Amino acid sequence: MPDQIFVTCPHCHRKNRMPIALLTADGKCGACKEALFIGKPVDLSQSTFEQHMGGDLPLVIDFWAPWCGPCRDFSPVFEAAAATLEPKVRLAKVDTEAEQALAQRFSIRSIPTLMMFRKGKEVGRVSGALPPAQLSRWISQHL
Ligand SMILES: [Zn+2]
Repeated sequence: MPDQIFVTCPHCHRKNRMPIALLTADGKCGACKEALFIGKPVDLSQSTFEQHMGGDLPLVIDFWAPWCGPCRDFSPVFEAAAATLEPKVRLAKVDTEAEQALAQRFSIRSIPTLMMFRKGKEVGRVSGALPPAQLSRWISQHL
């Protein structure tokens, strides 16, 4: 584990370098002064995606779409997980309808699909809405 890590801001999407010892859920962004952790998933688009992919926090992405019932049911579960798991993990969402290029890039064939990345590398993928306990177990497995 390095002494310093890069944490991407959920507001301005700039990377903050911070000592790992100071990594807490109430950290502030050096650029925009907003909170680095907001207790819920960050909505990612084509233009902000790489910034988060390039951060040092494990990144868990929920690929979903507004018309998908199971996705909407899963949304509060995912949101609750963000509140519990930050600042160890970054949770994010990609709307596959608005961001079709991202969905294509990761060959998302069914939604919801969860993907987990560490340093930009895929470390896990699962399709279907997971119940809360299973979700946190799945994430912990890949930490
Ligand atoms: Zn910021």
